[in-house]
Amino acid sequence: MTRIASHRGGTLEFGDSTPTGFRSTARLPLEEVEFDLHPSIDGAIMVHHDPTLDGTTDKSGEICKLTEAEIRAARINYSVGEHPVSLAELCELYADSAVDFRCEFKPDCNGVPYSDFVPKAIKVLKHHNMLKRTGFSSFLLATLDELARHTDSTRLWLVSPAVQTQLGLKAVIEVAQAHGIPEIGLNIDRADTQVMAQVEQAGIEFGCWAAHDAAQITKALQLKVKVFTTDRPSLAIALRTSFAREAGQ
Ligand code: FE
Repeated sequence: MTRIASHRGGTLEFGDSTPTGFRSTARLPLEEVEFDLHPSIDGAIMVHHDPTLDGTTDKSGEICKLTEAEIRAARINYSVGEHPVSLAELCELYADSAVDFRCEFKPDCNGVPYSDFVPKAIKVLKHHNMLKRTGFSSFLLATLDELARHTDSTRLWLVSPAVQTQLGLKAVIEVAQAHGIPEIGLNIDRADTQVMAQVEQAGIEFGCWAAHDAAQITKALQLKVKVFTTDRPSLAIALRTSFAREAGQ
């Protein structure tokens, strides 16, 4: 069965990385919750997509230059007046959930990985007994390499359409193999049966990201990718249920 990952806690249904989105996802019949991490200036690990607060909250500024209290003061757009949570809080929300973590490491505003951030996040996941339930993802090879030095957990390389075009799929596969990366994720609009077969024949697992509308979700289900991220988890669950019903007839 294709796994569903609720992207940022289901952005199009609950707002971007909101407590309600994460709390709801924890109870949904799906397999993963996807989220992104950034450090505050005073050592907290905050769950938020962008490296700044500007695009998704009523506040502005780079997360890594703000205190935890300043980040928590931001109200998330399209939420029910909610504020960003920490990784520790997210762990507590999922302690009794059947949904596993898909943790993405994002870079700072300049596209540079935060220094010494990966081991700090791993420490928090371990402390909350969530590390064994966590798969990691990143667009950055340096971050995937760093992850390999600190954990045996699954690492997924998010390949952007630009990288897929510029390198070509053959080179993408070679780079993944050279870095010991077991799984890649392509944008759903850049995936097809041929691409998927080429990746899987190389012994690399295949998933997709950004399957947000019905056509994109259906495509991921028909391809039978390992996992896909979606901003609309409820829609994905409904489509997967009817897809399974039709397949069973
Ligand atoms: Fe992400």
